[in-house]
Amino acid sequence: MKAKEILKSMSPYKPGKQIDEVKKEFGLEKIVKLASNENPFGFSPQVKKELPNLITGLEKYPDGYGTELRKKLSQELNIKEEELIFGNGSDEIVQIICRTFLEPGTNTVMATPTFPQYKHNALIEGAELREVPTKEGYHDLDEMLHQVDNNTRVLWLCTPNNPTGAHISSDEMEKVLSECPEHVLIVIDEAYYEYMDASDAFDAVGAIGKHPNLIVLRTFSKAYGLAGLRIGYGIAAKELIATLDPAREPFNTSTIAQAAAILALDDKEFLNDSIARNKENREMMMKFCKVNDLGFYDTQANFMLIHLPVSGDSLFQHLIRKGFIVRSGEALGIPNSIRLTIGSKEVMKEIQQEMLNFLESTKTGVE
Ligand SMILES: *Cc1c(COP(=O)(O)O)cnc(C)c1O
Repeated sequence: MKAKEILKSMSPYKPGKQIDEVKKEFGLEKIVKLASNENPFGFSPQVKKELPNLITGLEKYPDGYGTELRKKLSQELNIKEEELIFGNGSDEIVQIICRTFLEPGTNTVMATPTFPQYKHNALIEGAELREVPTKEGYHDLDEMLHQVDNNTRVLWLCTPNNPTGAHISSDEMEKVLSECPEHVLIVIDEAYYEYMDASDAFDAVGAIGKHPNLIVLRTFSKAYGLAGLRIGYGIAAKELIATLDPAREPFNTSTIAQAAAILALDDKEFLNDSIARNKENREMMMKFCKVNDLGFYDTQANFMLIHLPVSGDSLFQHLIRKGFIVRSGEALGIPNSIRLTIGSKEVMKEIQQEMLNFLESTKTGVE
């Protein structure tokens, strides 16, 4: 048998450690996972209440068009129904984009570090990668545009960027959209859109009418708290959606995920509460970093990239023994840092104390 050559050098996605695994390994009762930017406040109680009622007709295939959700979302976003594509998480839309546009002989431009699935899927399709280092966590857009040539098919813009948290301002985005050649698909991944509160945030959905080569990605996995159901979507001009659609599996989003997404969209109270608490706790965490001389990148998301005077791995090891799972910066390509999902206030206070304990111990050499 002969698989694609590139797969020999690739490894499967390594998820953050699973809660049960860590409990067992360290003999812990309570574990808090702050490694995957999930919503620490759960998901809409409306969805929870209605979930048993959604479990009917499971012998039937789902509506592959997502008719009801499509209707609902097009009203919410003030767009046409044909301007949407759904995915088994926005992860799958990344895959669909790569299947549609990339092949050997083409290239794709992205920041580094950024969301790893762009690179992963591009490699499988045999495309050349052009990765442009971020500056203080921000995309270096001039250099990214400089890397674009006749063979560039896709330009990835992640805002706020995972794992740095920094967003792309409206002015910068306008500049990219006007300067990037029209043969390049521009992907604006807004997985953390709901958390953004910068006054200069870009209205990406509002721009799809003017830019036939633009797609905006959003998800129910982060602020809506439905990561376990796997549903995300893309918004683009209907011609672009029609180009992508043949590369999509016919029944890629489940009946339950579609129904839950509709209920989640209706529960603005839960969403707004999650956003407000994230903002408050994020500010508290920034203050903590400032007081304790820990640098961090600007963030508009529900996570923070915090710089450390020690390796991210060493703090990761300390925290995991205390029941907190974070992402080590070494694993993300940013040494001496951690990426921390903003949790509840109580959890943030606990982790602050543990961080201080550890940093103190590294100074004195005892732990
Ligand atoms: C989490 C995340 C996604 C993927 O979310 P899905 O669960 O697949 O919808 C996409 N992009 C970024 C930047 C993310 O952080």
